[in-house]
Formats: sequence, C-alpha cells, structure tokens
Amino acid sequence: LLEARGLSKSFGALRALDGVNLRLEHGGALGVIGPNGSGKSTMFRLLGGLMRPDAGQAFLEGRPIVGLAAWRVCRLGLALTGQIPQPLSELTVRENVVAAAVFGGGLAMGAARRAAEEHLALTGLAALADAPSGRLTVVNRRRLELARALATRPKVILLDENLAGLTPVETDQALDLLRQINAMGVGLLMVEHVMRAVLGICRRVMVLDQGRLIAQGRPEEVVREAAVIEAYLGSDVHA
Ligand code: ATP
Ligand code: MG
Repeated sequence: LLEARGLSKSFGALRALDGVNLRLEHGGALGVIGPNGSGKSTMFRLLGGLMRPDAGQAFLEGRPIVGLAAWRVCRLGLALTGQIPQPLSELTVRENVVAAAVFGGGLAMGAARRAAEEHLALTGLAALADAPSGRLTVVNRRRLELARALATRPKVILLDENLAGLTPVETDQALDLLRQINAMGVGLLMVEHVMRAVLGICRRVMVLDQGRLIAQGRPEEVVREAAVIEAYLGSDVHA
C-alpha cells in the first residue's frame, strides 16, 4: 500500500531524516515511535506532500508520490492529520469536513455534504457541527482532524500524535474508533507516544532516533527496546 525508500531530509546541518525505509501492507497498522526531534513528523510531512525530501522515493499503491502537492497525494488516497490541528478556523466544524471532502477527496458538493455528516457522526462531532472550529477543546480538535481525514475517503491515514493530550477515557474511545476504521480496510500509520495505543492497534512498529530507523518489528519486542532507548536518552517515550 505505502512504501518509502531512503527518505532523507536535512534542515541546514541537521539531518532530520536519514535514509529511512518503510512498508505498510493493505489494511495494515504501523506505529512510529522515537524521542522528540527524531524525525517522525518530518517523515509524515514528506509522505503527505507538505515537504520535498532531499533524497528518497515513496509510493502509494506503486505510484510515486514524492514531489506531488499535498492535495494530489490526498486524492490518491493518503490523508494526514497534523500534530498541531489546524482547522480552517473561520469555518464551522461541518464546513471544515465538507471542505476536506471537496478539496482532498475530490467529491462533488452533495456527496461531500453526505460524507461530512457520516464522519461527524462517526467521530462524535455531530452535536458540534455548527460550532466555530477555532474554539474547540483538545479532544474535539483531534476528532475534527480525524473527521477531515476520513472525509477524503483515504486508503491510508497518517496520524501524527492524534491521541496526545486526551484523557484515558477519551483515549479508549479514540482507540475503539481507530480499530474500527482499520478493520474497514483503511491502513494506519501512527506516530504515538502513548504506548498503550501503539500496542492496542499496531501490528508492526518502527523506531526512529536522530533521523535513523534503528529498530522495527512486533510491538512487544520493539517497545522493550524503546524502554532501553528511553533510559539511555532520558527522552519522553512514555509507557
Ligand atoms: P516530536 O516528538 O517532538 O514531535 P519529531 O520526531 O516529530 O518530534 P520532527 O518534528 O520531525 O521530530 O523534527 C526532527 C528535527 O528536525 C528536529 O530537530 C526539529 O527541530 C527539526 N526540524 C523539523 N522541522 C524543521 C523545519 N521546518 N526547519 C528546521 N528544522 C526543523
Ligand atoms: Mg512530531
């Protein structure tokens, strides 16, 4: 479904991402963990068309996506939720989802409206549909990011810390929903510091450190290694 080879990106002298490979099968769920500044968001932004890599290739269902504009990548089926949610704050919650369906999903207005209602309900935002999106609580901002992604009818969603800052109850609700989405055949690639989330959904995990892929495998194996890395670096890969 999604494959990348040798993805690299530097900011000046800083190698933010250094020759990273990844592979996500159809319907798979892959976790990405690593300390702050290890290149997780950079990798997502490269894959989502928000930045160009210095080197490397990426393919969605065999089609090259590196260098395409974000909306084109989205129309091919890759949706990205941002680490810092950035709704179109002058618009309501519903209008944000409709806009995503039109621009990211290529839907006509009628279909976009129906997609919006469906995904507002699914993410628990129906009651807030007419609220201004600029004044949502943390959990509702994260739900809106997910609703916007879903409304584009993605084959894969890249979730950049979509569960950060949620209470345990909200986290459980979000995990249930993500499992449901994954079970419908949507691939998930998720950056997450909440290990319970990674263990609960991802069947494979990759670990980044200083831009390099230093480990990958089944979550139980890798999380043990991550604990060692945490102890070593004093980073915040929370349990
Ligand atoms: P976090 O867990 O804190 O979200 P991350 O793994 O997502 O971290 P990135 O945001 O990918 O890390 O950043 C990787 C490195 O690249 C960091 O050192 C960061 O400061 C740097 N960096 C990221 N974006 C830019 C940019 N646009 N310009 C300059 N440096 C950047
Ligand atoms: Mg990040």
